[in-house]
Amino acid sequence: MDITSLTIHELSERLKKKELSSVGLTKEFLARMESVEPKIHSFITVTANDALEAARHADKRLAGGKDITPLTGVPISVKDIFCTKGVKTTCASKILADFVPPYDSTVVRRLKDAGAVILGKVNMDEFAMGSSTENSALFKTLNPWDTSRVPGGSSGGSAASVAAGECAASVGTDTGGSIRQPASCCGVVGLKPTYGRVSRYGMIAFASSLDQGGPFTKDVRDSAIMLNAMAGHDPRDSTSIDAPVPDYASFLGKGVKGLKVGIPKEYFIEGMDKDVEAAVRGALEVLKKEGAELVPITLPHTEYAVAVYYLVATAEASSNLARYDGVKYGLRVNETGSLMDMYKRTRDAGFGGEVKRRIMLGTYSLSAGYYDAYYKKASQVRTLIKNDFDSAFRKCDVIATPTAPTAAFKLGEKVADPLTMYLSDIFTISCNLAGIPGISIPCGFTKDGLPIGLQLLGKDLDEGTVLKAAYSYEQATDWHKQRPRL
Ligand code: GLN
Repeated sequence: MDITSLTIHELSERLKKKELSSVGLTKEFLARMESVEPKIHSFITVTANDALEAARHADKRLAGGKDITPLTGVPISVKDIFCTKGVKTTCASKILADFVPPYDSTVVRRLKDAGAVILGKVNMDEFAMGSSTENSALFKTLNPWDTSRVPGGSSGGSAASVAAGECAASVGTDTGGSIRQPASCCGVVGLKPTYGRVSRYGMIAFASSLDQGGPFTKDVRDSAIMLNAMAGHDPRDSTSIDAPVPDYASFLGKGVKGLKVGIPKEYFIEGMDKDVEAAVRGALEVLKKEGAELVPITLPHTEYAVAVYYLVATAEASSNLARYDGVKYGLRVNETGSLMDMYKRTRDAGFGGEVKRRIMLGTYSLSAGYYDAYYKKASQVRTLIKNDFDSAFRKCDVIATPTAPTAAFKLGEKVADPLTMYLSDIFTISCNLAGIPGISIPCGFTKDGLPIGLQLLGKDLDEGTVLKAAYSYEQATDWHKQRPRL
């Protein structure tokens, strides 16, 4: 039995029974990393010494038998968008290539407090802009199921590192699908919580009204464990929700008898891959067999979601990224010219092509004369999309859809055409615009052996029901037990 393929709850049991030590486990994962990293390239920074130190501390905690959480002693990876005190946080951008934050993001702080062992920081699309991790300014991450393919994005390093057994779990961020889509591509579980459920403090901003951190795990129980460690009110994030955090594990195992699962007709579209459609329809049958009631619903404004997203997200990004000017952070080019010259050269050298494209789109849609026609209009249509979900959730408890229209695509297949790349997020974007929670869980494989994801969306702050339905499906199948051969 390869212990690097085990889940958090399986590892935690063994740690508590002293069948394993956290130091031993951490060394196993570091060894696994050494053997698979040359094929996968998930990690930007490996913090082996800090990890072993944290593991020694966790072993003391486990020996004392006090203050133990299900994460105590368990090795995880962290997307390189979360600030880590004293450890480089690059956002996979040249502009932050040498940035070392003086503080921990709240998510990282909470995971450390729970006793998790952080093995390092993982790759992503630059500033989380992309769906394949190919926009990383540093290197490309490959899909553990087929290394000629992308792992999805933007949290591709998170998804690949979990799928490849380099860590037990990971944390990523989701602005338009960046947790759920790579989870789907890599055959793992990815959860985007309700906007405001997890603190954004110290999570480098892309589009502030959409960004939300969440876990990547090998199964649904682990997702509940991670969310419990990450979620909760944080006075340092003004959009953080001040509501009690339930014990998410308590929702698992309750079954789906009588649960109403909404099936939106707008999400079963032409152009969707046949294998994906068949797997998702098969998953709906499983939910039905487990006792759920399938209800047809409609989300009529779905067709506007991609357009609305690319106006709102780029507008917010252009404003958020104004702070990288060579004065306060990271890279500075041309110290001797005028101030304006220094700004221009720094930003030109520091940002990659996709980031520049988004800054230009966003600046345009916010500029005088265009604001009403683009940004304001997009914000109004966003409300209509939210209203669609509100009416749908009067008829059902969760909504089931494919996570992405295709399985993982080939490296290089979509980089030349930003529009086709943007369309990979067609099924995940509305959830962010509405602020609701969503999960992607494995629901099958294509004929080529590539994982397929089922997406379940829930009501605001109702992660419990989403996890309950996901768990029920998962326990009736064994897709989540498959591991890539590396
Ligand atoms: N792929 C989408 C984009 O490029 C979503 C990214 C994300 O969720 N961070 O904007």
